[in-house]
Amino acid sequence: MVRALLTDEGSRRAAATDRSGHRPATLPDAVVRATTVEEVVETLRWATASRTPVVPRGAGTGLAGGSSARAGEVVLDLSGMDRIVAVRPDDQVAVVEPGVLTADLDAAAGEHGLFYAPDPASAAISSIGGNIATNAGGLRCAKYGVTREAVLGLDLVLADGRRVTTGRQTVKGVAGYDLTGLVVGSEGTLAVVVGATLRLRPRPAATATLAAHFDGLVAAAAASAALTAAGLQPSVQELVDAAGLEAVDAARGTALRSRGAALLLVQCDGHGARTEIDAVAGVLAPFATSWRATADPMEAEELLAARRAVLPALERTGDVFIEDVAVPRSQLAAAVAGVQAISARTGVRIATVAHAGDGNLHPVVVVERGTPVTEGAPWEAACAVFDLALALGGTLTGEHGVGLLKRTWLHRELGEDSLALQRGIKAVFDPLGILNPGKGI
Ligand SMILES: Cc1cc2nc3c(=O)[nH]c(=O)nc-3n(C[C@H](O)[C@H](O)[C@H](O)COP(=O)(O)OP(=O)(O)OC[C@H]3O[C@@H](n4cnc5c(N)ncnc54)[C@H](O)[C@@H]3O)c2cc1C
Repeated sequence: MVRALLTDEGSRRAAATDRSGHRPATLPDAVVRATTVEEVVETLRWATASRTPVVPRGAGTGLAGGSSARAGEVVLDLSGMDRIVAVRPDDQVAVVEPGVLTADLDAAAGEHGLFYAPDPASAAISSIGGNIATNAGGLRCAKYGVTREAVLGLDLVLADGRRVTTGRQTVKGVAGYDLTGLVVGSEGTLAVVVGATLRLRPRPAATATLAAHFDGLVAAAAASAALTAAGLQPSVQELVDAAGLEAVDAARGTALRSRGAALLLVQCDGHGARTEIDAVAGVLAPFATSWRATADPMEAEELLAARRAVLPALERTGDVFIEDVAVPRSQLAAAVAGVQAISARTGVRIATVAHAGDGNLHPVVVVERGTPVTEGAPWEAACAVFDLALALGGTLTGEHGVGLLKRTWLHRELGEDSLALQRGIKAVFDPLGILNPGKGI
Protein backbone atom coordinates (compact mmCIF):
# COMPACT_ATOMS: atom_id res chain seq x y z
CA MET A 1 0.00 0.00 0.00
CA VAL A 2 1.57 3.34 -1.09
CA ARG A 3 1.58 5.57 2.00
CA ALA A 4 2.73 8.85 0.48
CA LEU A 5 -0.04 9.62 -2.01
CA LEU A 6 -0.63 13.38 -2.01
CA THR A 7 -3.61 14.96 -3.72
CA ASP A 8 -3.74 18.41 -2.08
CA GLU A 9 -3.27 21.40 -4.38
CA GLY A 10 -0.06 22.61 -2.69
CA SER A 11 1.74 19.29 -3.28
CA ARG A 12 0.46 19.04 -6.85
CA ARG A 13 1.53 22.63 -7.61
CA ALA A 14 4.99 22.11 -6.08
CA ALA A 15 5.55 19.08 -8.33
CA ALA A 16 4.03 20.55 -11.51
CA THR A 17 7.16 21.83 -13.22
CA ASP A 18 10.93 22.30 -13.09
CA ARG A 19 13.26 25.31 -13.44
CA SER A 20 12.88 25.60 -17.25
CA GLY A 21 10.35 28.43 -17.25
CA HIS A 22 7.68 26.07 -18.63
CA ARG A 23 4.30 26.65 -16.96
CA PRO A 24 1.81 23.78 -17.53
CA ALA A 25 -1.79 24.98 -17.90
CA THR A 26 -3.10 22.32 -15.47
CA LEU A 27 -1.87 20.49 -12.37
CA PRO A 28 -1.10 16.73 -12.12
CA ASP A 29 -3.78 14.59 -10.46
CA ALA A 30 -1.55 13.42 -7.60
CA VAL A 31 2.01 13.05 -6.32
CA VAL A 32 3.45 9.79 -5.00
CA ARG A 33 6.39 10.53 -2.72
CA ALA A 34 8.13 7.14 -2.78
CA THR A 35 10.59 6.13 -0.10
CA THR A 36 11.05 2.47 -1.05
CA VAL A 37 11.49 0.43 -4.24
CA GLU A 38 8.32 -1.47 -3.34
CA GLU A 39 6.33 1.77 -3.47
CA VAL A 40 7.73 2.51 -6.94
CA VAL A 41 6.82 -1.01 -8.10
CA GLU A 42 3.32 -0.71 -6.67
CA THR A 43 2.80 2.72 -8.26
CA LEU A 44 3.84 1.52 -11.71
CA ARG A 45 1.76 -1.67 -11.51
CA TRP A 46 -1.25 0.47 -10.68
CA ALA A 47 -0.38 2.97 -13.46
CA THR A 48 -0.18 0.16 -16.02
CA ALA A 49 -3.44 -1.39 -14.86
CA SER A 50 -5.22 1.97 -14.98
CA ARG A 51 -3.28 3.30 -18.02
CA THR A 52 -2.25 6.39 -16.05
CA PRO A 53 0.84 8.31 -17.27
CA VAL A 54 3.59 8.71 -14.65
CA VAL A 55 6.15 11.53 -14.55
CA PRO A 56 9.31 10.57 -12.62
CA ARG A 57 10.72 13.48 -10.63
CA GLY A 58 14.01 14.00 -8.82
CA ALA A 59 14.79 17.42 -7.37
CA GLY A 60 12.91 19.38 -10.05
CA THR A 61 15.95 21.45 -11.13
CA GLY A 62 15.70 20.36 -14.78
CA LEU A 63 15.83 23.00 -17.51
CA ALA A 64 13.92 21.30 -20.33
CA GLY A 65 10.47 20.72 -18.84
CA GLY A 66 11.27 16.99 -18.41
CA SER A 67 9.56 16.66 -15.05
CA SER A 68 6.64 18.97 -15.87
CA ALA A 69 3.29 17.25 -15.33
CA ARG A 70 -0.33 18.06 -16.07
CA ALA A 71 -3.89 16.90 -15.47
CA GLY A 72 -4.35 13.17 -16.06
CA GLU A 73 -0.77 12.44 -14.94
CA VAL A 74 0.71 11.32 -11.63
CA VAL A 75 4.11 12.55 -10.45
CA LEU A 76 6.43 9.90 -8.98
CA ASP A 77 8.70 11.91 -6.68
CA LEU A 78 11.92 10.00 -5.88
CA SER A 79 13.62 12.68 -3.80
CA GLY A 80 12.80 10.79 -0.58
CA MET A 81 14.86 7.75 -1.67
CA ASP A 82 18.04 9.49 -0.60
CA ARG A 83 20.31 6.91 1.03
CA ILE A 84 23.97 6.50 0.13
CA VAL A 85 23.93 2.72 0.49
CA ALA A 86 27.70 2.16 0.30
CA VAL A 87 30.97 3.82 -0.61
CA ARG A 88 33.56 1.16 -1.42
CA PRO A 89 37.01 2.78 -1.59
CA ASP A 90 38.75 -0.48 -2.60
CA ASP A 91 36.69 -0.67 -5.78
CA GLN A 92 36.22 3.12 -6.11
CA VAL A 93 32.46 2.76 -6.44
CA ALA A 94 29.38 4.03 -4.62
CA VAL A 95 25.92 2.50 -4.48
CA VAL A 96 23.15 5.07 -4.08
CA GLU A 97 19.42 5.61 -4.18
CA PRO A 98 18.19 8.10 -6.83
CA GLY A 99 17.24 10.98 -4.52
CA VAL A 100 20.77 11.53 -3.18
CA LEU A 101 21.92 15.07 -3.93
CA THR A 102 24.95 15.14 -6.22
CA ALA A 103 27.07 17.25 -3.86
CA ASP A 104 26.26 14.92 -0.93
CA LEU A 105 27.67 11.94 -2.85
CA ASP A 106 30.80 13.92 -3.71
CA ALA A 107 31.22 14.86 -0.03
CA ALA A 108 30.75 11.24 1.09
CA ALA A 109 33.34 10.10 -1.47
CA GLY A 110 35.68 12.83 -0.18
CA GLU A 111 35.80 11.13 3.23
CA HIS A 112 37.62 8.28 1.48
CA GLY A 113 39.99 10.43 -0.60
CA LEU A 114 37.73 10.01 -3.66
CA PHE A 115 35.39 12.22 -5.68
CA TYR A 116 32.33 11.87 -7.89
CA ALA A 117 33.37 13.58 -11.12
CA PRO A 118 30.14 14.83 -12.78
CA ASP A 119 29.43 18.15 -11.06
CA PRO A 120 26.57 20.12 -12.64
CA ALA A 121 26.50 23.72 -11.43
CA SER A 122 23.33 22.58 -9.67
CA ALA A 123 25.20 19.84 -7.72
CA ALA A 124 23.98 21.19 -4.38
CA ILE A 125 20.31 20.96 -5.41
CA SER A 126 19.99 18.26 -8.12
CA SER A 127 19.56 14.50 -7.54
CA ILE A 128 21.64 11.63 -8.87
CA GLY A 129 18.50 10.08 -10.42
CA GLY A 130 17.82 13.31 -12.33
CA ASN A 131 21.49 13.54 -13.33
CA ILE A 132 21.33 9.99 -14.71
CA ALA A 133 18.04 10.61 -16.51
CA THR A 134 19.44 13.76 -18.18
CA ASN A 135 23.04 12.51 -18.55
CA ALA A 136 24.07 15.69 -16.75
CA GLY A 137 27.36 17.41 -17.44
CA GLY A 138 29.17 19.91 -15.31
CA LEU A 139 32.30 21.90 -14.68
CA ARG A 140 34.72 18.97 -14.31
CA CYS A 141 33.29 17.10 -17.29
CA ALA A 142 35.84 18.76 -19.62
CA LYS A 143 38.35 16.18 -18.36
CA TYR A 144 36.33 13.44 -16.66
CA GLY A 145 33.35 13.07 -18.96
CA VAL A 146 29.61 13.39 -18.32
CA THR A 147 27.36 11.29 -16.08
CA ARG A 148 27.27 8.36 -18.53
CA GLU A 149 31.01 7.83 -17.96
CA ALA A 150 30.39 7.47 -14.22
CA VAL A 151 27.43 5.04 -14.26
CA LEU A 152 28.43 1.37 -14.06
CA GLY A 153 25.06 -0.21 -13.30
CA LEU A 154 21.43 0.63 -12.62
CA ASP A 155 18.49 -0.79 -10.70
CA LEU A 156 15.36 -0.03 -12.65
CA VAL A 157 11.63 -0.43 -12.39
CA LEU A 158 9.93 -0.78 -15.77
CA ALA A 159 6.57 0.75 -16.65
CA ASP A 160 4.73 -2.48 -15.77
CA GLY A 161 6.44 -2.74 -12.37
CA ARG A 162 9.09 -5.34 -13.28
CA ARG A 163 12.49 -4.84 -11.63
CA VAL A 164 15.56 -5.04 -13.87
CA THR A 165 19.26 -4.71 -13.07
CA THR A 166 21.55 -3.45 -15.83
CA GLY A 167 25.31 -3.09 -16.13
CA ARG A 168 27.80 -4.26 -13.54
CA GLN A 169 29.90 -3.59 -10.45
CA THR A 170 33.16 -3.71 -12.42
CA VAL A 171 34.81 -0.83 -14.28
CA LYS A 172 34.89 -2.93 -17.48
CA GLY A 173 32.30 -5.28 -18.97
CA VAL A 174 30.63 -5.79 -22.34
CA ALA A 175 28.08 -8.55 -21.77
CA GLY A 176 25.00 -7.85 -23.87
CA TYR A 177 23.73 -4.57 -25.24
CA ASP A 178 24.54 -1.51 -23.13
CA LEU A 179 21.15 -0.98 -21.49
CA THR A 180 22.76 1.16 -18.80
CA GLY A 181 24.05 3.61 -21.40
CA LEU A 182 20.64 3.58 -23.07
CA VAL A 183 18.77 4.49 -19.91
CA VAL A 184 21.27 7.23 -19.02
CA GLY A 185 19.88 10.35 -20.71
CA SER A 186 16.47 8.79 -21.43
CA GLU A 187 14.68 11.49 -19.41
CA GLY A 188 12.40 9.15 -17.47
CA THR A 189 10.83 7.76 -20.65
CA LEU A 190 12.25 4.19 -20.52
CA ALA A 191 12.37 3.23 -16.84
CA VAL A 192 12.49 4.61 -13.33
CA VAL A 193 15.96 4.60 -11.76
CA VAL A 194 15.72 3.30 -8.19
CA GLY A 195 19.42 2.61 -7.59
CA ALA A 196 22.81 3.16 -9.19
CA THR A 197 26.36 1.87 -8.92
CA LEU A 198 28.63 4.80 -9.69
CA ARG A 199 32.30 5.14 -10.44
CA LEU A 200 34.39 7.29 -8.10
CA ARG A 201 37.88 8.61 -8.74
CA PRO A 202 40.87 9.42 -6.55
CA ARG A 203 40.92 13.07 -5.46
CA PRO A 204 43.64 14.86 -7.45
CA ALA A 205 46.90 15.39 -5.57
CA ALA A 206 46.94 19.09 -6.50
CA THR A 207 44.98 21.71 -8.40
CA ALA A 208 45.99 25.01 -10.00
CA THR A 209 43.45 27.58 -11.13
CA LEU A 210 43.67 30.50 -13.53
CA ALA A 211 41.25 33.38 -14.15
CA ALA A 212 41.78 35.11 -17.51
CA HIS A 213 39.98 38.31 -18.50
CA PHE A 214 39.21 39.47 -22.05
CA ASP A 215 37.84 42.56 -23.72
CA GLY A 216 35.06 40.51 -25.32
CA LEU A 217 33.37 37.12 -25.38
CA VAL A 218 34.55 36.21 -28.88
CA ALA A 219 38.21 36.64 -27.86
CA ALA A 220 37.61 34.50 -24.76
CA ALA A 221 35.95 31.77 -26.85
CA ALA A 222 38.82 31.83 -29.36
CA ALA A 223 41.27 31.48 -26.46
CA SER A 224 39.33 28.50 -25.13
CA ALA A 225 39.40 26.81 -28.53
CA ALA A 226 43.15 27.46 -28.69
CA LEU A 227 43.61 25.51 -25.42
CA THR A 228 41.88 22.50 -26.96
CA ALA A 229 43.86 22.83 -30.19
CA ALA A 230 47.09 22.95 -28.13
CA GLY A 231 46.26 19.52 -26.67
CA LEU A 232 45.88 20.76 -23.10
CA GLN A 233 43.22 19.10 -20.95
CA PRO A 234 42.15 21.23 -18.00
CA SER A 235 39.57 19.72 -15.64
CA VAL A 236 37.57 22.96 -15.71
CA GLN A 237 37.27 25.40 -18.64
CA GLU A 238 34.34 27.77 -18.06
CA LEU A 239 33.34 30.95 -19.84
CA VAL A 240 31.20 33.82 -18.52
CA ASP A 241 30.21 36.93 -20.50
CA ALA A 242 29.82 40.53 -19.29
CA ALA A 243 26.10 40.17 -18.50
CA GLY A 244 26.80 37.06 -16.41
CA LEU A 245 29.65 38.80 -14.56
CA GLU A 246 27.46 41.84 -13.84
CA ALA A 247 24.70 39.61 -12.44
CA VAL A 248 27.18 37.73 -10.23
CA ASP A 249 28.70 41.01 -8.98
CA ALA A 250 25.23 42.28 -8.06
CA ALA A 251 24.34 39.03 -6.29
CA ARG A 252 27.64 38.37 -4.49
CA GLY A 253 29.25 41.81 -4.11
CA THR A 254 32.27 40.85 -6.26
CA ALA A 255 33.95 43.08 -8.88
CA LEU A 256 34.56 40.58 -11.69
CA ARG A 257 33.12 42.78 -14.45
CA SER A 258 35.61 45.57 -13.71
CA ARG A 259 38.42 43.19 -14.77
CA GLY A 260 37.10 42.56 -18.26
CA ALA A 261 34.09 41.87 -20.48
CA ALA A 262 34.53 38.09 -20.32
CA LEU A 263 36.06 35.58 -17.90
CA LEU A 264 37.64 32.23 -18.75
CA LEU A 265 38.12 30.13 -15.65
CA VAL A 266 40.57 27.25 -16.04
CA GLN A 267 41.57 24.60 -13.54
CA CYS A 268 44.18 21.87 -14.00
CA ASP A 269 44.57 18.97 -11.60
CA GLY A 270 46.88 16.09 -10.79
CA HIS A 271 50.57 15.95 -10.04
CA GLY A 272 51.40 18.14 -13.03
CA ALA A 273 48.76 20.80 -12.29
CA ARG A 274 51.18 23.73 -11.92
CA THR A 275 53.15 22.82 -15.02
CA GLU A 276 49.95 22.47 -17.03
CA ILE A 277 48.52 25.79 -15.78
CA ASP A 278 51.77 27.50 -16.90
CA ALA A 279 51.21 26.02 -20.35
CA VAL A 280 47.59 27.25 -20.26
CA ALA A 281 48.79 30.77 -19.43
CA GLY A 282 51.18 30.64 -22.38
CA VAL A 283 48.36 29.80 -24.80
CA LEU A 284 45.91 32.36 -23.35
CA ALA A 285 48.37 35.29 -23.08
CA PRO A 286 47.99 36.56 -26.68
CA PHE A 287 44.18 36.68 -26.29
CA ALA A 288 43.72 37.93 -22.71
CA THR A 289 43.88 41.45 -21.31
CA SER A 290 44.99 40.03 -17.95
CA TRP A 291 45.23 36.72 -16.15
CA ARG A 292 46.09 35.44 -12.71
CA ALA A 293 46.91 31.93 -11.53
CA THR A 294 46.49 30.61 -8.00
CA ALA A 295 47.25 27.37 -6.16
CA ASP A 296 45.24 28.55 -3.12
CA PRO A 297 42.23 26.18 -2.84
CA MET A 298 40.10 28.82 -1.04
CA GLU A 299 40.63 31.40 -3.79
CA ALA A 300 39.94 28.75 -6.44
CA GLU A 301 36.72 27.71 -4.68
CA GLU A 302 35.60 31.37 -4.61
CA LEU A 303 36.06 31.60 -8.39
CA LEU A 304 34.22 28.32 -8.98
CA ALA A 305 31.42 29.44 -6.66
CA ALA A 306 31.11 32.64 -8.72
CA ARG A 307 30.77 30.54 -11.87
CA ARG A 308 28.13 28.31 -10.26
CA ALA A 309 26.25 31.43 -9.18
CA VAL A 310 25.76 32.78 -12.72
CA LEU A 311 22.39 31.15 -13.47
CA PRO A 312 20.79 31.92 -10.06
CA ALA A 313 22.19 35.48 -10.35
CA LEU A 314 20.61 35.94 -13.79
CA GLU A 315 17.34 34.50 -12.44
CA ARG A 316 17.33 37.42 -9.95
CA THR A 317 17.25 39.88 -12.86
CA GLY A 318 14.17 38.51 -14.67
CA ASP A 319 12.52 35.35 -15.97
CA VAL A 320 14.94 33.19 -17.94
CA PHE A 321 15.09 30.47 -20.56
CA ILE A 322 18.42 28.68 -20.33
CA GLU A 323 19.55 27.20 -23.64
CA ASP A 324 21.99 24.34 -23.85
CA VAL A 325 23.45 24.01 -27.33
CA ALA A 326 26.85 22.45 -28.02
CA VAL A 327 29.14 22.94 -31.01
CA PRO A 328 32.46 21.42 -32.11
CA ARG A 329 35.01 23.17 -29.91
CA SER A 330 36.72 24.79 -32.90
CA GLN A 331 33.38 26.58 -33.60
CA LEU A 332 33.02 28.15 -30.14
CA ALA A 333 33.99 31.68 -31.21
CA ALA A 334 31.64 31.52 -34.23
CA ALA A 335 28.86 30.34 -31.92
CA VAL A 336 29.20 33.12 -29.35
CA ALA A 337 29.47 35.72 -32.15
CA GLY A 338 26.30 34.25 -33.68
CA VAL A 339 24.44 34.43 -30.37
CA GLN A 340 25.44 38.07 -29.96
CA ALA A 341 24.17 38.80 -33.48
CA ILE A 342 20.83 37.09 -32.68
CA SER A 343 20.46 39.20 -29.55
CA ALA A 344 21.20 42.41 -31.49
CA ARG A 345 18.82 41.44 -34.33
CA THR A 346 15.88 40.40 -32.14
CA GLY A 347 16.38 42.91 -29.32
CA VAL A 348 16.14 40.01 -26.85
CA ARG A 349 18.61 40.11 -23.95
CA ILE A 350 20.85 37.01 -24.04
CA ALA A 351 23.63 36.38 -21.54
CA THR A 352 26.07 33.57 -22.29
CA VAL A 353 27.84 31.16 -19.99
CA ALA A 354 29.58 28.05 -21.31
CA HIS A 355 31.24 24.80 -20.34
CA ALA A 356 33.77 25.93 -22.94
CA GLY A 357 36.01 22.87 -22.68
CA ASP A 358 33.08 20.80 -24.01
CA GLY A 359 31.89 23.40 -26.56
CA ASN A 360 28.64 23.52 -24.54
CA LEU A 361 27.02 26.99 -24.46
CA HIS A 362 24.21 28.18 -22.25
CA PRO A 363 22.83 31.31 -23.92
CA VAL A 364 20.37 32.58 -21.29
CA VAL A 365 17.36 34.48 -22.63
CA VAL A 366 16.37 36.99 -19.95
CA VAL A 367 12.96 38.70 -20.04
CA GLU A 368 11.01 40.97 -17.75
CA ARG A 369 9.27 39.12 -14.99
CA GLY A 370 5.94 37.65 -16.06
CA THR A 371 6.83 37.66 -19.79
CA PRO A 372 6.42 34.17 -21.30
CA VAL A 373 9.79 32.84 -22.48
CA THR A 374 8.43 30.10 -24.73
CA GLU A 375 6.50 32.33 -27.13
CA GLY A 376 6.95 35.58 -29.08
CA ALA A 377 10.32 37.28 -29.56
CA PRO A 378 12.16 35.40 -26.73
CA TRP A 379 11.22 32.04 -28.25
CA GLU A 380 12.12 33.25 -31.76
CA ALA A 381 15.56 34.21 -30.43
CA ALA A 382 15.86 30.81 -28.73
CA CYS A 383 14.94 29.04 -31.99
CA ALA A 384 17.50 31.12 -33.87
CA VAL A 385 20.12 29.81 -31.43
CA PHE A 386 19.01 26.20 -32.17
CA ASP A 387 19.38 26.95 -35.89
CA LEU A 388 22.82 28.43 -35.33
CA ALA A 389 24.04 25.40 -33.36
CA LEU A 390 22.84 22.94 -36.01
CA ALA A 391 24.37 25.04 -38.79
CA LEU A 392 27.73 24.91 -36.99
CA GLY A 393 27.59 21.10 -36.78
CA GLY A 394 26.35 21.11 -33.20
CA THR A 395 23.45 19.82 -31.15
CA LEU A 396 20.24 21.16 -29.58
CA THR A 397 21.21 19.97 -26.14
CA GLY A 398 24.58 19.25 -24.60
CA GLU A 399 23.33 18.18 -21.16
CA HIS A 400 19.88 19.42 -20.14
CA GLY A 401 17.91 17.08 -22.40
CA VAL A 402 15.12 17.51 -24.91
CA GLY A 403 12.31 17.41 -22.36
CA LEU A 404 9.19 19.13 -23.53
CA LEU A 405 10.68 22.29 -24.96
CA LYS A 406 13.00 21.00 -27.70
CA ARG A 407 10.90 18.08 -28.85
CA THR A 408 9.57 19.76 -31.98
CA TRP A 409 13.17 20.40 -33.04
CA LEU A 410 14.47 16.89 -32.59
CA HIS A 411 13.76 15.56 -36.08
CA ARG A 412 15.94 18.39 -37.46
CA GLU A 413 18.95 16.96 -35.65
CA LEU A 414 18.25 13.21 -35.73
CA GLY A 415 16.35 12.72 -38.96
CA GLU A 416 13.19 10.62 -39.33
CA ASP A 417 14.88 7.18 -39.56
CA SER A 418 16.84 7.62 -36.35
CA LEU A 419 13.76 9.01 -34.61
CA ALA A 420 11.69 6.01 -35.75
CA LEU A 421 14.36 3.66 -34.33
CA GLN A 422 14.25 5.52 -31.02
CA ARG A 423 10.44 5.31 -30.89
CA GLY A 424 10.78 1.55 -31.46
CA ILE A 425 13.11 1.30 -28.44
CA LYS A 426 10.64 3.26 -26.33
CA ALA A 427 7.88 0.81 -27.36
CA VAL A 428 9.98 -2.18 -26.22
CA PHE A 429 10.53 -0.70 -22.75
CA ASP A 430 7.13 0.93 -22.34
CA PRO A 431 4.57 -0.42 -24.86
CA LEU A 432 1.64 1.42 -23.29
CA GLY A 433 3.44 4.78 -23.17
CA ILE A 434 3.03 5.11 -19.39
CA LEU A 435 6.39 6.75 -18.62
CA ASN A 436 6.76 10.50 -19.11
CA PRO A 437 4.73 10.72 -22.34
CA GLY A 438 5.39 13.70 -24.60
CA LYS A 439 8.98 14.14 -23.37
CA GLY A 440 12.36 13.38 -24.95
CA ILE A 441 11.86 11.63 -28.26
C1 LIG B 1 21.17 26.82 -11.31
C2 LIG B 1 21.18 25.59 -12.16
C3 LIG B 1 22.37 25.16 -12.73
C4 LIG B 1 22.40 24.01 -13.53
N1 LIG B 1 23.59 23.59 -14.03
C5 LIG B 1 23.64 22.44 -14.74
C6 LIG B 1 24.90 21.96 -15.25
O1 LIG B 1 25.96 22.55 -15.06
N2 LIG B 1 24.87 20.80 -15.98
C7 LIG B 1 23.73 20.10 -16.20
O2 LIG B 1 23.77 19.05 -16.85
N3 LIG B 1 22.53 20.54 -15.76
C8 LIG B 1 22.46 21.68 -15.03
N4 LIG B 1 21.27 22.13 -14.55
C9 LIG B 1 20.03 21.39 -14.89
C10 LIG B 1 19.59 20.30 -13.85
O3 LIG B 1 20.11 20.56 -12.56
C11 LIG B 1 20.00 18.92 -14.34
O4 LIG B 1 19.29 18.62 -15.53
C12 LIG B 1 19.77 17.79 -13.33
O5 LIG B 1 20.36 16.61 -13.82
C13 LIG B 1 18.30 17.54 -13.03
O6 LIG B 1 18.24 16.75 -11.86
P1 LIG B 1 16.91 16.75 -10.96
O7 LIG B 1 17.12 15.79 -9.87
O8 LIG B 1 16.57 18.11 -10.56
O9 LIG B 1 15.87 16.16 -12.01
P2 LIG B 1 14.40 16.62 -12.39
O10 LIG B 1 14.39 18.03 -12.86
O11 LIG B 1 13.46 16.27 -11.28
O12 LIG B 1 14.11 15.66 -13.63
C14 LIG B 1 14.86 15.77 -14.82
C15 LIG B 1 14.48 14.62 -15.75
O13 LIG B 1 14.88 13.38 -15.16
C16 LIG B 1 13.77 12.50 -14.99
N5 LIG B 1 14.03 11.79 -13.73
C17 LIG B 1 14.33 12.33 -12.53
N6 LIG B 1 14.60 11.37 -11.63
C18 LIG B 1 14.44 10.19 -12.27
C19 LIG B 1 14.56 8.83 -11.89
N7 LIG B 1 14.93 8.46 -10.64
N8 LIG B 1 14.32 7.86 -12.80
C20 LIG B 1 13.97 8.18 -14.07
N9 LIG B 1 13.85 9.46 -14.49
C21 LIG B 1 14.07 10.44 -13.60
C22 LIG B 1 12.55 13.39 -15.02
O14 LIG B 1 11.39 12.70 -15.47
C23 LIG B 1 12.99 14.47 -16.00
O15 LIG B 1 12.79 14.03 -17.31
C24 LIG B 1 21.20 23.29 -13.78
C25 LIG B 1 19.99 23.74 -13.21
C26 LIG B 1 19.98 24.87 -12.42
C27 LIG B 1 18.67 25.30 -11.82
